Amino acid sequence: MATTSREIRLKSRPEGMPKADNFELASVELPAPGPGEVLVRNSWMSVDPYMRGRMYDRASYVPPFQLGQALQGGAVGAVVQSNDERFKPGDLVESMLGWREAFVASASNLNKLPNAGVPPQAFLGVLGMPGMTAYSSFHRIGAPKEGDVVFVSGAGGAVGSAVCQIAKIRGCTVVASAGSDEKLAWLKSVGVDAGVNYKTAPNLLDAVRAAAPKGVDIYFDNVGGDHLEVALEVARPFARFIECGMISIYNANEPPPGPRNMSYIVGKRIKMQGFIVSDFMDMREQFIAEMGAWVKDGRIKWEETIETGVENAPKAFLNLFTGANTGKMLVKLD
Ligand code: NDP
Repeated sequence: MATTSREIRLKSRPEGMPKADNFELASVELPAPGPGEVLVRNSWMSVDPYMRGRMYDRASYVPPFQLGQALQGGAVGAVVQSNDERFKPGDLVESMLGWREAFVASASNLNKLPNAGVPPQAFLGVLGMPGMTAYSSFHRIGAPKEGDVVFVSGAGGAVGSAVCQIAKIRGCTVVASAGSDEKLAWLKSVGVDAGVNYKTAPNLLDAVRAAAPKGVDIYFDNVGGDHLEVALEVARPFARFIECGMISIYNANEPPPGPRNMSYIVGKRIKMQGFIVSDFMDMREQFIAEMGAWVKDGRIKWEETIETGVENAPKAFLNLFTGANTGKMLVKLD
């Protein structure tokens, strides 16, 4: 019997802030799986800020999305039919074939989810790519020591909230910046020491200085722009800057004004390093073991913001840029 799947395609390349009409909903009939192929029905899919970069037609560390074709991204779902001995109907699997309800693909595109005693969508968040991003870069680039002061921008999101909690486990003092008091209240409930609402603070530098009067040893940057400039200002000598993302400039039509105080990098001997999570795949087993244990024993908590139905995936994606999500932004598909 034919399987119908609805999917979201890129209709036009966004200029500036993406809009709903940059996307279109389409319906496809899936073929029966051939030899070595598997039919999967997705139950959850992820929307992530990095996807904005793939909407530009330019070379990057991942190829651009193609106009008129379904977008791609992390998803978890269940095997419906399998012509590969490694998978059987009912198996929960992870793939990069999100933004669609179902798909037929070679079994080599799938990873079976471990039975970790967590809901499957946790493998798109705290135990998936965002969690791995936080865990690997915080340790590898941040080289945290007990007593360090850590400043995290974008702290209420999937990556940022994991960083805050890992930093607390490592004995650091954590100052978080986020765009709402509700996000900051949740972050404090999971151990964050001080919070700054960057949307309401009359002056970001003053607010961060008040929250981190002794300065900052590690800056975890999800935002760039003003936050980076402030972090350079409050950095202590030999601070480490983990350049994870710069969401404040992802939709900029013009080159954004740079931090005006880059010379601090020299005088304060700041070490600043960008990364892509795939750089740290050698830490994957360590991540699964340690983060998995922290999640199980409740030392790491997570929040989810959920839209329902593939037709609402563009809305979920757009909402990343207005801060509508606390924790991981997800789309529930069944
Ligand atoms: P989040 O869950 O943090 O969602 C995005 C959040 O960013 C929003 O909720 C919003 O929160 C904040 N935000 C949006 N626009 C702005 C702005 N103009 N200024 C300040 N804050 C803004 O997303 P992720 O946790 O998935 O990703 C966080 C960052 O990490 C992104 O920059 C992403 O690109 C990057 N990343 C990098 C990876 C790598 O390998 N280097 C891998 C994965 C993610 P608020 O209410 O606080 O405004």
